[in-house]
Amino acid sequence: MGKHSRPGRVPNYSPFAIRYSLIATALVASFGVSAAGEMRSAQFVDAATLVPGLILDIRYAGAHNFVGRPIDGYEKPRCLLTPAAAAALANAARDLAPRGLVLKVFDCYRPTRAVADFVRWARDLNDSAGKAEFYPQVDKRVLFWEGYISPRSGHSRGSTVDLTLARAADGRELDMGTPFDFFSPRSWPADRSVSAEARANRVLLADAMRRGGFRPYDKEWWHFTLRHEPFPDSYFDFPVR
Ligand SMILES: [Zn+2]
Repeated sequence: MGKHSRPGRVPNYSPFAIRYSLIATALVASFGVSAAGEMRSAQFVDAATLVPGLILDIRYAGAHNFVGRPIDGYEKPRCLLTPAAAAALANAARDLAPRGLVLKVFDCYRPTRAVADFVRWARDLNDSAGKAEFYPQVDKRVLFWEGYISPRSGHSRGSTVDLTLARAADGRELDMGTPFDFFSPRSWPADRSVSAEARANRVLLADAMRRGGFRPYDKEWWHFTLRHEPFPDSYFDFPVR
């Protein structure tokens, strides 16, 4: 898209950060996807058309995220998924409906160019617009080292979602103890420092997602991957539009 290109300033990298980010950039390049990715885009589905009551809050399409601006590759705030993942998400939504709850998604399929944008952002230590809300306790220099930013993402395979629970009646999110994308061990589903209510809500979400066909992730309460994903080794790069 080009509209987020940065001015040519010289950030303050440590030698370690430079070396590590060069490795990360090379990894992103090696996982880039060919023209097959464009063909695949036609096979992904818009989850909002299949999942009852689904609420969309696609953070990387706007500015309310840890970077503080829209991320490359997100041209529309849509939840694109493989048909198998969307069907599993619909199962989870139907499971929760009798409790008066719906699913609210923050991210679904994520193009590899968006992951590359995160890597560029993490390398620029002067850019800390989202720090107060998303990583107040973490030094930006260790976001890679501690695994908060990765050179590739399972989301690019099209069968991973980030989401929470909301009340069907008014769309209000349930308390999960931390916000989405909060870079802290408090976001680990098993963390004991959040309230009992938040822990119970995390369990409720994880149980419904498990029954729907997903597996949870032990470092982020909001992140789930389809157990039998159709493209376990493919990282796509067509834009979300
Ligand atoms: Zn995720």
